[in-house]
Amino acid sequence: MPVPAWVPIREELRDEEPYGAPQLDVPVQLNTNENPYGPSDETARDIAESVLKVATSLNRYPDREASELRASLAAYLGHGLTADHVWAANGSNEIMQQVLQAFGGPGRTAVSFAPTYSMYPEYARNTHTRWIAGRRRDDFGIDVDAALELIAAEQPDVVILTSPNNPTGTALDPAHTRAILEAAPGVVVVDEAYAEFRRAGTPTALELLDAFPRLLVTRTMSKAFALAGGRLGYVAADPAIIDALRIVRLPYHLSAVSQAAATAALRHEDELLAAVDALRTTRDETAAWLRDRGLDVAESDANFVLFGTFEDRHAIWQGLLDRGVLIREVGPLGWLRVSIGTPEEMDAFRQALLEVI
Ligand code: PMP
Repeated sequence: MPVPAWVPIREELRDEEPYGAPQLDVPVQLNTNENPYGPSDETARDIAESVLKVATSLNRYPDREASELRASLAAYLGHGLTADHVWAANGSNEIMQQVLQAFGGPGRTAVSFAPTYSMYPEYARNTHTRWIAGRRRDDFGIDVDAALELIAAEQPDVVILTSPNNPTGTALDPAHTRAILEAAPGVVVVDEAYAEFRRAGTPTALELLDAFPRLLVTRTMSKAFALAGGRLGYVAADPAIIDALRIVRLPYHLSAVSQAAATAALRHEDELLAAVDALRTTRDETAAWLRDRGLDVAESDANFVLFGTFEDRHAIWQGLLDRGVLIREVGPLGWLRVSIGTPEEMDAFRQALLEVI
């Protein structure tokens, strides 16, 4: 439904819909790559007590620089990073918007490689950044020669790479990341929202930060740290890049409650990352099971699996939903994406899929 004619919205937004997967009340929710394992009682209590401590001073604005949280995030990331190398915001969504506010904008260009996370063009639209989507190969890897040609032709101010990529699960070949970093004239963002789920041997772009000062690596606590509801995303980069992001942030953008909750969750890294290990095992089992059924499955380093292909993917999606299992109709035509849940939830998914196909 277009925005009514009397509402004086920017014309290019009139026919747009707000972004978002359906939020349906379904027993098995495997559609938004959430972590099915919530925090333990002990972790939840620590979060609640930390929030209680700040509750008595909520009459004051929060620490604008989120210093304690940034130091904790830097310690978690390692790689010699300090609080000055890290910036935090309300989800990596907000980080990416700040990146485009600071480094994109009118007269500037951002490039990414589709199929990829469908919010990127929306950040570009909202910041008046010209958006160019290169194509990925059939195996969803990046065609590095084509990518370098596109970068040479467009001279983008921002390149967004995603590793592991959503919705395909594909990790970037580090040689390709390096080649793109060497060629790109502006900033290069590697979105590592799903980094903790990567398979052994898949490297992180954090290793390249020293060599490439225009590299930004974004992460989130929404997935591995089971904190999607807490809204905490962050980015690691050279301190001068972080200072540039601080120019466009809203004052006090990150509430004292968010800062306290995230800092507390980070104290429970061991517990929360143990659940990530379990999810990686379930992911590999799910991919193997789908392959045994004769389906195509994209290689996944994330907490979801893209599988297909179906002549009528909507019918499969609907059939699963009718059986109480919500997955995501997203990605290239014919493919579907299932987030990895608990073993019981994946059982329900398998039973439902067997009935539908
Ligand atoms: N990047 C990618 C690739 C994602 O898939 C998502 C979430 N679906 C995000 C960023 C945003 O995550 P958040 O804002 O919750 O940190």
